[in-house]
Amino acid sequence: MSSLNPSIPSDELEAKLCERLGKLDLAAKVRLLSGADFWSLPADDSIGLRSIVFSDGPAGVRGEVGDERNPSLNLPSGSALGATWDVDVARRYGDVLGREALRKNADVVLGPTINLHRSPYGGRHFEAMAEDPLLTARLAAAYVEGIQAHGVAACPKHYVANDYEIERHTASSEVGERALRELYLAAFEDAIVEARAWVVMSAYNGVNGVTMSENDLLRDPLKTEWGFDGVVLSDWIAVKTTDASANSAQDVVMPDLLSPWGDALVEAVREGRVAESTIDEKVLRVLRLAARVGALDGVEPASRAAGEAPEPLSIVTELGAESMVLLRNADELPWSLAPASIAVIGPNAMCARSQGGGSATVVPDRVISPLEGLRQHFPDASISFDMGVPAPTEIFPLDRDLLSDPVAETPGVHVVFSAADGTVLLEEVRLSAELAWMGTMPEGATTLTMQTRYTPAITQRCDVGVAVAGHVSLSIDGETVIDRFSTAESAGSRDGGLETSDITANIFAPPVTAVPVDLVEGTPIDLVAVCDLTTAPLPMVHAIMIGMAPRSGPDELMLAEAVAAAAAAEVAVVVVGTSSRTESEGIDRTSLALPGGQDALVEAVLAANPRTVVVVNAGSPVLMPWHDRASAVLVTWFGGQRTGTALAEVLAGDREPGGRLPTTWPGDDQAVPVGPDRPVDGKVHYAEGIDIGHRAWLKQGATPAYCFGHGLGYTTWNMSDLAVPAKVAGGEPFSLSLTVRNTGDRPGKHVVQVYAARGSSEVSRPVRWLAGWSVVRADPGEAVRVEVDVPARSLAAWVDGKWWYETGAFDLLVGASVDELPLQATVVVGS
Ligand code: BGC
Repeated sequence: MSSLNPSIPSDELEAKLCERLGKLDLAAKVRLLSGADFWSLPADDSIGLRSIVFSDGPAGVRGEVGDERNPSLNLPSGSALGATWDVDVARRYGDVLGREALRKNADVVLGPTINLHRSPYGGRHFEAMAEDPLLTARLAAAYVEGIQAHGVAACPKHYVANDYEIERHTASSEVGERALRELYLAAFEDAIVEARAWVVMSAYNGVNGVTMSENDLLRDPLKTEWGFDGVVLSDWIAVKTTDASANSAQDVVMPDLLSPWGDALVEAVREGRVAESTIDEKVLRVLRLAARVGALDGVEPASRAAGEAPEPLSIVTELGAESMVLLRNADELPWSLAPASIAVIGPNAMCARSQGGGSATVVPDRVISPLEGLRQHFPDASISFDMGVPAPTEIFPLDRDLLSDPVAETPGVHVVFSAADGTVLLEEVRLSAELAWMGTMPEGATTLTMQTRYTPAITQRCDVGVAVAGHVSLSIDGETVIDRFSTAESAGSRDGGLETSDITANIFAPPVTAVPVDLVEGTPIDLVAVCDLTTAPLPMVHAIMIGMAPRSGPDELMLAEAVAAAAAAEVAVVVVGTSSRTESEGIDRTSLALPGGQDALVEAVLAANPRTVVVVNAGSPVLMPWHDRASAVLVTWFGGQRTGTALAEVLAGDREPGGRLPTTWPGDDQAVPVGPDRPVDGKVHYAEGIDIGHRAWLKQGATPAYCFGHGLGYTTWNMSDLAVPAKVAGGEPFSLSLTVRNTGDRPGKHVVQVYAARGSSEVSRPVRWLAGWSVVRADPGEAVRVEVDVPARSLAAWVDGKWWYETGAFDLLVGASVDELPLQATVVVGS
């Protein structure tokens, strides 16, 4: 074994890779460039190459199969990570993922998602980190470093300008060169240039008319200027051509299904349409990746980080609290005295969204809901629960602890896949009633039967049903109660917020059918769901959930019950949020309003109890017309599997809410500067140029509900003695310093933010823009001298095909959000 470190480019490594390449004939080389199956690349024993395994990502590591019997850690989603504003936290986040990947036998984690919050309507907004390219770039780079320190590849995605979902497979993002460079590419740059990511995923969409898997942007700047020496992986089934994609800098096509390379590419090379040297370059990149992740015999993998693994659930709890943003606090939080009674209200309190929908979904062992978290943390309080409104998704998965398999007589659900002639192809006991098969269904299966016995824990009237696309029947105690055919498309928009053109919505947000059932505590019901897989809209993948949701009666009754509980309790905690039909891969939103009567619910609870804390469980901005009347508003994002624990600890004051908004939260739909926009004739025009997010709000002089960078902690701060170098050289980074004092009586976290502005400039500039920031943690009374780095690029503009450093005076404004900037100084940039 060589002792060289394959994460560092070297002639010795390249010689070894070329030697292996030289042993392969054309067909063997081309074979290595398409998936062997849904999640891995082919092995080739003749050169000591084992299969390289990919896993989604990006807020956990699902592994090749998402299976509750081998669960994954479910970390807070991308926008939550963005809200931490903390590169050290992002590195630890990556560290957890690297360890998870090794545990799950994955070589490549398909993350981070580095698209921007260009518009809050993006259905996949939760997966990306921020509206700002600098904030995104720094956090993404740290995330990549954290993963790759374990010899596991990170895969920044989706390169580039994949910031919406409608028509994402075909639409072209029409973006000017300056916005591309300063925003959309800039967001990726640090992860490639500084953190040296080993894989990058090209996006489905096109940019300026050329689909990304054939786009010159893969070569320039990625492989040329940025020196990317890794693999450009396609998004799943994104590549549609043989010659054009192979002649571009696209290296690998995933998965095996529908790959247009393989034999067709061998033929293209034989006929001279694609050069064999082009194939060689791609294969070398695959071999380099193999060397790095330890998939090539005789080459030691990249050195792996030592160090003690953090306790996984505690770190997920900590990340949850670090990312929570306290938007408003009228002296309510933290609770200095535990309340004697708490009315917990809202569907998301019972069934929290710990993660967003789509390919990002992992299967955690257990999610602690806000209700459960509060019950565990405040055992002496009397805690009631009311839905207040029907569940926006109609049903929640059945509680696993209450399921038993009537066939095997063990806990769980009996699952059988059978063929048309009745042959059983697969029979197993699963632990959950919410199951998905992503490319892992047995071949030839035409029927799926799921059978479980559910023993209710409380007596209540519920809706019981099934969420699945295609034809399904559901029987309860032997009687067929549902027998229907439906798809996401035929079900259409069900809560006013969903718009999809994407067939994968059948997996991420499948249609639901439910019927009312009176459940009796301790009296089991037998449920059998039978799916006709020949009517399922997608091959290879399938998702089904048998579920229930409390539904005591008409909407008015549910609201009245919640209001009565709120009025009777010392404190009310209303948990509102989005659902899998509002925020998910494959869909975009048409309105930022909370779905399904939740605003009316909050209003009614606020009127019933002056001490109402509203908890917002959403991955992206929602409208909160009532926000300035709540005693506190706390955003938990999609906070990971311990979100309820983190919430209870933050309410109790055991932890501080550490988050600051990584994206602007609008007050109403009309004021939103960018979006919702839909492709017109297959094009989405990024006409706003470099002014997205807070830059756009400032430009149009509009005031959002909560601005970029805003978030309250539990202590107070004073900032003073700003020192800025009087003169700096253009193109050179510099730093400024200031004194930050914790003037409160608790330890806390402060995010010092620096914005730049330029009175008059030769190019158009945003009113002001984020130029740097620093996270400070200090004890009560402690004063810290803080340095904030301002990267050279922060003051640059992309002009005439290169970075231009304008000379002259720039204002630097320093404070706690884009709108609260008490300190100011000027720096003069010299030539
Ligand atoms: C998503 C990617 C994901 C891939 C594999 C695609 O639909 O856009 O982000 O990694 O599927 O699941």
